[in-house]
Amino acid sequence: MEYFVNVILPIPLERQFTYSVTSDEADFLSPGMRVAVPFGKSKIYTALVLTIHNFPPNAYEAKEIDQILDEVPLVNQLQLRHWEWIANYYMCTLGEVMRSALPSAFLLESETLILRNDSTHVDESQLKDDEFLVFEALQHQSTLKVHEVSAIVERKNVLPVLNRLLEKNIIYLKEEVYEQYKPKLVKYVKLGKDYLFDTALEALLESLTRAPKQSQVVLSLFQLQGNSKKPISITDLEKYSNASKSVIGSLVDKGILEEYHIRMDRVRFEGEENSEVKSLNEYQLQALANIKRSFEEDKVTLLKGVTSSGKTEVYVQLISEYLEKGKQILYLLPEIALTTQLISRLQDYFGERISVFHSKYNIQERVEVWNNVLIGAQKAQIVIGARSSLFLPFDNLGLIIVDEEHEGSFKQFDPAPRYHARDAAIVLANLHKANILLGSATPSIESYYNAKRGKYGYAEINRRFGNVLMPDMELVDFKEALRKKRVKGHFSERLLEEIEESLGNGEQIILFQNRRGFAPVLECLTCGHTPQCSNCDVTLTYHQYKNQLRCHYCSYHTALPDSCAACGSPELDTKGFGTEQVEEEVKKLFPEAKVGRMDLDTTRGKHAYEKIITSFEQQELDILVGTQMLTKGLDFRNVSLVGVMNADSLLNFPDFRAHERTFQMLTQVSGRAGRTQKRGKVIIQTYNPYHQILKQVTTGDYETMFTEQIYEREQYKYPPLNRIIKITFKHKNYNTLNEATEWFSGALRTHFGGTVLGPEYPPISRIRNQYLKNILVKIDKSESLGKTKKNIKRIEKTFKSVSLFRSVRVIYNVDYI
Ligand code: ADP
Ligand code: ZN
Ligand code: ZN
Repeated sequence: MEYFVNVILPIPLERQFTYSVTSDEADFLSPGMRVAVPFGKSKIYTALVLTIHNFPPNAYEAKEIDQILDEVPLVNQLQLRHWEWIANYYMCTLGEVMRSALPSAFLLESETLILRNDSTHVDESQLKDDEFLVFEALQHQSTLKVHEVSAIVERKNVLPVLNRLLEKNIIYLKEEVYEQYKPKLVKYVKLGKDYLFDTALEALLESLTRAPKQSQVVLSLFQLQGNSKKPISITDLEKYSNASKSVIGSLVDKGILEEYHIRMDRVRFEGEENSEVKSLNEYQLQALANIKRSFEEDKVTLLKGVTSSGKTEVYVQLISEYLEKGKQILYLLPEIALTTQLISRLQDYFGERISVFHSKYNIQERVEVWNNVLIGAQKAQIVIGARSSLFLPFDNLGLIIVDEEHEGSFKQFDPAPRYHARDAAIVLANLHKANILLGSATPSIESYYNAKRGKYGYAEINRRFGNVLMPDMELVDFKEALRKKRVKGHFSERLLEEIEESLGNGEQIILFQNRRGFAPVLECLTCGHTPQCSNCDVTLTYHQYKNQLRCHYCSYHTALPDSCAACGSPELDTKGFGTEQVEEEVKKLFPEAKVGRMDLDTTRGKHAYEKIITSFEQQELDILVGTQMLTKGLDFRNVSLVGVMNADSLLNFPDFRAHERTFQMLTQVSGRAGRTQKRGKVIIQTYNPYHQILKQVTTGDYETMFTEQIYEREQYKYPPLNRIIKITFKHKNYNTLNEATEWFSGALRTHFGGTVLGPEYPPISRIRNQYLKNILVKIDKSESLGKTKKNIKRIEKTFKSVSLFRSVRVIYNVDYI
């Protein structure tokens, strides 16, 4: 009997690949284990076993696997089913999901090793200097890696010297798979075994009287150890005894001390559990009861609670209940909201049972979390993480919390799989028969819509904890202020007055200016008007090179007007202003104040974001200027004023979600004001003080916002009533791209009933020498999403059979946001 395995390879090819195995290997293997397999001419890939069977492939001769890399499955069956759902739903390959799901350390790659060819006789005098150096090194060690050769010849480019050595038959090359992951080992010391008896010890100390430093070390070891058996690390001993490494080293050499290693988890917290779970107030209790009732019906549940209403404490209560049942808990957050503030708050309750999974952690740290989840370790019972933590090997998941569920950053943009973590989490919960809670002060229109229709369960908290009042919101008509000359730069006098007062009271201030983003829009400097597309209800974007305004959904475009269509003013602007400008102005206006800035530019480094937050928390800064980064669940005690510099740039963002997002962002950033007893103040500057969204923000009227948005989404066929797939085409040749997208959209229009928009250029239509064009497909709720996707895939197949189009990249973004 012959044996075969079907595997996933981490490459964007649709099919599975079959390799042959021996019957022993077939016995040993099970789905979810990794094997190294040859691929193409010389490449070796890490593959994941999906099935083991007896059917040879009929189109090709199955190659043998290279080696088995795991003793137990690294990935379980539920994960594989989850991957399949993701690949299917988001129109990508299993290989792409695998590449995203596994920490890269698990995806071994081949590496070239350089070996000496013993059968060649070498005349050293004939070698050039660099050739000799490599040859000599190979006398001392059997293999060299490329980077080692590079160090030896002190040159980056080592190919010439390797080529010459190859030609002379002095070396040969070998591909080897290597494991990137190395557990961190920490060095510990203990007393050598000859000195474990009291008498031996006395004699030892006596013998060391003339070596005071050494005897100090031995005594320190005893003091550190006390009565416990806990291991003492060399670093601790060094510190405590004030002795150098060499003193300790000589004790080790004499056999008085013994060194040993312990494998360490890098992701470790010193944190102890030192807080009891808080007892909830009546509103929190009511919400908790509603959540539990809905969980009993196995429903996805939405918790809508105003900022500072104590949602986090409700999560904490739920988490501790699932902990008691011995279940795993996953707490999902947008990357940026994953702050030390929140982590240490949860650690206070749950101590070492928390693991954090964060893209800023290095590969090794992520592997450790993975392994801890895999073996069901206690320290990974609760995982707090950003979207990729969905892929950890849970096998006993009881509860998923998706905090800030409205956040757009839960959707992965690039590369594939372009999944929405909230939606993928719902599927994951389903597979585990676990409960899932979505939480937000400003739920997404989608989730609230599902709650309204009874598809999701629902709970709410409408008061801030401790009866703290919602902040007092004031709209400032910037157009009016300009007319009356009551402005300085981008600041209205009203805002300046409030800043002055807060500074006078020693309170802190947040100034919010959204980044202009990548899409320049045209704005009237007199009345704030921005031209819209009449088909799509979306702001038009400015395309400089054609001097046009274009809708980047449909193909509508118009020449750049020379005056405002609303007020006739010729002062039109496409630039807007950013955080940097606000920072400069405010520093000039308030030279005494300490001003900080938080945006993408100032938070690049690993800890930069935390540093800014901490210095604001510690009140080393009076004023913090920032982008929407500031809106994410931060709890600052001393902030009394939030100033929104320009609400219009949010409202005019060229996206059908602009209004929903404006509501969410402004509500969230306002929520940073007055989180203690004193009522906070929010000033929103705008050219459109009568805009309905701004009114809804100031009155906290989510309900009306929702109703109006749903109405518009229905009119213009947007989610949640319709679904959207964005298809992006990429090619280096402008004409080929145009032909390809015309062909594709034509085929879609012929074969498919929904709405097809475009092809149209995105606001940035050329990236790294590749032109981009999009087609937007809107699918009615009454149509089957699955069928539509199949149709699109079929069209793509025909498309790819046209030789001109073969090199055009086609990228799907399902539920594009
Ligand atoms: P949210 O997550 O809704 O923004 P938080 O959970 O951060 O709100 O709560 C706001 C503040 O109120 C926090 O400082 C929190 O510690 C406090 N708080 C919330 N619930 C309670 C409670 N039941 N007992 C004591 N303090 C609470
Ligand atoms: Zn105007
Ligand atoms: Zn349009």
